[in-house]
Amino acid sequence: MQIMMVASEVAPFSKEGGLADVLGALPAALAKLGEEVTVVSPLYRGVRDEAERIGLPLQPLRDVRLQAPIGDRSVEGNVWKTFLPDTRVAVYFIENDRYYDRDGYYTNAKDHSDYLDNSERFIFLSRGALELCRLLELKPDVLHSHDWHTGLVPIYVKHVYRAELPNTATVFTVHNLAYQGIFWHWDMKLAGLPWRLFTWKMLEYYGNLSFLKAGLVGADVLTTVSKTYAKEIQTEEFGLGMDGVLRDRSDDLYGIVNGIDTDEWNPRTDPAIEANYSAEDLSGKAACKEALQASFGLPVDSSRLLIGIVCRLVEQKGLDLLAEALPALLEEGIQLVVLGVGDPKYHEMLQRAHQRHPDKVSVRLDFSSEAAHRIEAGSDVFLMPSKFEPCGLNQLYSMRYGTVPIVRRTGGLAETVVDYDENAADAAEATGFAFEPYEPTALLMAVRRALDLWSRKEKWRALMLNGMKQDWSWGRVARQYASVYREAIRKAAGRRDEGN
Ligand code: ADP
Repeated sequence: MQIMMVASEVAPFSKEGGLADVLGALPAALAKLGEEVTVVSPLYRGVRDEAERIGLPLQPLRDVRLQAPIGDRSVEGNVWKTFLPDTRVAVYFIENDRYYDRDGYYTNAKDHSDYLDNSERFIFLSRGALELCRLLELKPDVLHSHDWHTGLVPIYVKHVYRAELPNTATVFTVHNLAYQGIFWHWDMKLAGLPWRLFTWKMLEYYGNLSFLKAGLVGADVLTTVSKTYAKEIQTEEFGLGMDGVLRDRSDDLYGIVNGIDTDEWNPRTDPAIEANYSAEDLSGKAACKEALQASFGLPVDSSRLLIGIVCRLVEQKGLDLLAEALPALLEEGIQLVVLGVGDPKYHEMLQRAHQRHPDKVSVRLDFSSEAAHRIEAGSDVFLMPSKFEPCGLNQLYSMRYGTVPIVRRTGGLAETVVDYDENAADAAEATGFAFEPYEPTALLMAVRRALDLWSRKEKWRALMLNGMKQDWSWGRVARQYASVYREAIRKAAGRRDEGN
């Protein structure tokens, strides 16, 4: 299949969040399966330098002069090409300094407010990708766009570029439903879209234009980053106003859990950790625990269950719940290390806990990949009591490091961690502990269950090894996307036959 992905970030060239990691890894994994993949993204400030730094300098497409209609104007852009590292995946960067040569990707560096011309900037990206298809005579089988920035792509394919791309199917992935790209209705004109599409069934959202909704109603197939989150976002509780739209599309909505970089997160070779280890020889993990206790200023004591947390310190991650459960938790004789930055109220909460219990709680209010690796390797247990979690990565890293996750049963966490229940049929496949109610006692009970099993060393070891055996590589994920693409092609053809 020929697949073109359009997205606002692509690692390692531009990155603010997990979206970039997906765009850096998924096309490469699909290419390994034999698919032909290209990526289109904006040439932000810094992209050129990063490309040169990693030895993949951008080459100009000299014969290509992109022109995209924006309202009544025609806006021009240059196109630069490079490849994803160690692949033949072409990445096309669309250059327009007025739009993209700025401090931040989406917001003002000064006050973190959204750029006022964000709709125009991402109309140019979406429309630019389609103009690029025209200029390079590319006719992808699948156009795959991601998050609100590129939500208009499926609408353009169906309603503006049908003649050029009669057989192209569209896939739209929601990485984060909380960002919806909502703009005033007159931006329909900027986008060059007919007013007949501005209805409640299509692009209109309470009087405004929503780019996210455009993707949700326009694409042949929708995906999000776990099956559980796919179900959750169809409910009022998690749907953030889009649940009705998503329920309408439930037959076309698929959940696919993200992969992880299994080279970066590998206890056998990880250069950041005290001692390397593997499922065959776990002995190095004890040294990692000692080093972690020592570096966080906790008593070096192998008989204490060491719980690790690494996350953005925000409400989503269940920090209120942790605060409520903490006093009882510390009665259990555990140790806790926390790495994170975020909301000052959680900084204070954690610092207070440390001051009261310096021998039990240690906190580092910082962003450090190296410390994250050390916590994954040195902890016995990794705690994620999230309120909601579309996918979640740390539980996957934990399992790979033989660190048993305790998670709240939501989103990607519910799907990737098999709860240990001695009496259940799947007890032999368990990989961690999961609790459901967002309540301190539920969290506490899960930690008690973990403590109980931890004292039965052979059973605990089996749990660790189950986690370490799991395959979270991108190869597996790419196969799932490939089958979703085939489904999209089939559905698109079926709809064309029906005249929709
Ligand atoms: P989210 O995307 O909601 O932040 P994920 O679990 O999907 O949550 O991914 C977060 C990523 O960021 C993980 O790789 C995690 O290790 C990393 N991370 C979060 N906070 C820190 C930190 N303070 N230091 C290092 N890495 C962090």
